[in-house]
Amino acid sequence: MPHELAPLPYPKEALEPAIDATTMEIHHGRHHKAYVDNLNKAIAGHEALERMSLDHLIADVLALPEAVRGPVRNNGGGHWNHTFFWRLMGPNAGGAPSGNLGDEIKATFGSFDDFKAKFEAAGLGRFGSGWVWLLRNPAGKLEIASTANQDNPLMGKGVSGTEGKPILGCDVWEHAYYLKYQNKRADYLKAWWSVVNWAEVAKNA
Ligand code: MN
Repeated sequence: MPHELAPLPYPKEALEPAIDATTMEIHHGRHHKAYVDNLNKAIAGHEALERMSLDHLIADVLALPEAVRGPVRNNGGGHWNHTFFWRLMGPNAGGAPSGNLGDEIKATFGSFDDFKAKFEAAGLGRFGSGWVWLLRNPAGKLEIASTANQDNPLMGKGVSGTEGKPILGCDVWEHAYYLKYQNKRADYLKAWWSVVNWAEVAKNA
């Protein structure tokens, strides 16, 4: 199988109390695993697609044969997004970004608190399932955007409604928070900042 589910980069309880171990276990071991399995199923027998990197599949989703386009959009997006998500969180994390990214966030959004408020508002404003992103847009500027379902800014405007290179992303599907937070997405988003690993995020900037 060309695509594989990597282990979580830390123990499943490492993000407590912000994200509980059971949520992490189900989210990674069942939801993320299903995206990987269904992506492999979707491209099975399409030799050119089986050789293509996940980044390439995502970026070229509109050019894919119609029969696989939808499944790759959903499951390839799901695989990419979750792989990205696990890596940008960690234990003993949180705080504020320093260095160039910290400066750029302040210059773009006014302050780190203003940035967080806008990011949370975008996450809350996503009706149903999706993601909220900090991305670098094609003009080279930082931008906050939200995408539906498992869409990703790398898929381009024609698919995701936005475009750019993701720097930070937060999963706002109910499966990401419902066990601990039930319907309170706002509380999840606020708690989530305590597990953001800014040193890792800065590498995406
Ligand atoms: Mn998810």
